[in-house]
Amino acid sequence: MDKRLRSSLLRADPDRTKKNETGTGAFPAHDAACMVQSNRSRILPLLRPIRVSVIVLARRARAPEIRLHMTPTSITGGCYCGTVRFQAAQVPLYRTNCHCANCRRAIGAQSVAWITVNRPNFRFEKGSPKKYRTETSAWRTFCDSCGTSLTYERDSRPDEIDITTGSLDHPEAFPPTKDFYPEEKLPWVPLINMIKE
Ligand SMILES: [Zn+2]
Ligand SMILES: [Zn+2]
Repeated sequence: MDKRLRSSLLRADPDRTKKNETGTGAFPAHDAACMVQSNRSRILPLLRPIRVSVIVLARRARAPEIRLHMTPTSITGGCYCGTVRFQAAQVPLYRTNCHCANCRRAIGAQSVAWITVNRPNFRFEKGSPKKYRTETSAWRTFCDSCGTSLTYERDSRPDEIDITTGSLDHPEAFPPTKDFYPEEKLPWVPLINMIKE
C-alpha cells in the first residue's frame, strides 16, 4: 500500500489504531505468549493498514441505508426494463398485502403488496404504461414492453392510487402492515402476522 495513503487511513481512525497495537484479536487467545511476542513486530505492521481500510469501506457501505430511512416522502420506482418510471411524493397512506384472486391472476403472483398514496402526489416521469379495465371496474397499468404491473385505481377511491410495492426502487423500506382479502389467500401463503422475522 502507498505510504501516504496508509498513513492517512491510520490518521482517520486513531482509536482503532491504538486497539490494533495491543494485538487483541489478532491471534487466538491460547497462542503461547512468546510466539505472539516474536511475531508481533513482523505481522502487525502488515495487518494494521488492511484492517483499518476494511473498517473505512464498511462505514461507506452503510451510509446509503441510513439516508434511505431519512427520506421516506420521496418514493421512486419503475418497470423491469426501465421504459416506465414514476415518482410519489408522499408517505404512503396504507401498506397492504392483497390475497384477492383478481390481483393474483392480474399480477401472476401468490399475493401482491401495494402502497397507496393520494392521486395528486403520484406521476409517471418517463414512458406511458398500458392501461386496462378489470372485470371489477378497476384500472390496472403495466409496462407494454416488459409486463411489470405498476398501479391500480378504482372509481370508488378517486383520490387514491395503489402502486405495486415490488416495482419500487426500495421495496424493503415499505413492508405491508395489513392483509387484504385473507379469506381468498392460497393455503400455502402466510399472512403478515404469521411471518416470523
Ligand atoms: Zn418495462
Ligand atoms: Zn387485490
